[in-house]
Amino acid sequence: MSGVGNTVVTLPNGVKMPQIGLGVWQSAAGEATENAVKWAVQAGYRHIDTAPLYENEESVGVGIRDCGVPREQIFVTSKLWNADHGYENTLAAFEKSRKELGLDYIDLYLIHWPRGNAIVAKEGKKYLDSWRAFEKLYEEKKVRAIGVSNFNIHHLEDVLAMCKVAPMVNQVELHPLNNQAELRKYCASKNIYVEAWSPLGQGNLLADPQLTSIAAKHHKSAAQVILRWDIQHNIITIPKSVHKERIVENAQVFDFELSAEEMATIDAMNTNHRYGPSPDDADF
Ligand code: NAD
Repeated sequence: MSGVGNTVVTLPNGVKMPQIGLGVWQSAAGEATENAVKWAVQAGYRHIDTAPLYENEESVGVGIRDCGVPREQIFVTSKLWNADHGYENTLAAFEKSRKELGLDYIDLYLIHWPRGNAIVAKEGKKYLDSWRAFEKLYEEKKVRAIGVSNFNIHHLEDVLAMCKVAPMVNQVELHPLNNQAELRKYCASKNIYVEAWSPLGQGNLLADPQLTSIAAKHHKSAAQVILRWDIQHNIITIPKSVHKERIVENAQVFDFELSAEEMATIDAMNTNHRYGPSPDDADF
């Protein structure tokens, strides 16, 4: 499909993960999510990012079954919600996600949040118990890859110090206003792929004059420029939309290239701004 090369990255265990996926946070369960998944697959996406928190795993499963492409060709991510931390709870939560999705296996399972420092101080580092359960799910081949989300360097160090299988992916808030340069450097040194959530700044970055000016030069949109910037930085990215034309647009990023100067201009937009909570301060 023209312009939808959808490059893949190869995770440390050899599993291939498409670099662009469809995010479905705030996609309503039912037709909206089912259609978004189907349109995405038609547009060349082979990767969907959901979570029990989004309350649409079942609809993602329906979309995958109805999309006309074999399930094996689609990379599905789901996540362990915060209330389900702990060894046994994690195993039970995984089974629930798998049933909701109606899948035999999940491609990538992530710890959604480590939980904020105040909660961890009270309850202990339960994400380490969750990680042991992740390793069991991985050994049993119920998941093809395991990773984390919203982990800072100190959380990753905790896991790396105790794990048998290291996290393969860390999904974090990442966009031009918060490019996570330090965390990306650390993750690269540990063979952990970084995945961008809210890559478009939840839609807030799309009128930025620097981005729209670069976009105009390439006859592209600001959204496409940001996603291309992700690709060229080797970042996995999961833009969300439920609108067919935007879903298609967000995948048309393999037919142009940003210059080193344009990449540097976007890199320089960083202000460490977050649209979502900081992992250390999260109170949920
Ligand atoms: P996003 O940055 O992908 O922005 C999505 C919004 O941008 C849409 O709702 C729409 O308003 C707008 N948009 C999208 N494409 C557009 C286009 N081409 N033109 C104009 N407007 C466009 O925001 P997001 O949904 O927060 O993040 C993407 C995905 O990341 C989520 O759906 C979810 O799967 C994941 N996520 C994970 C976490 C986590 O804690 N792990 C947190 C937030 C999001």
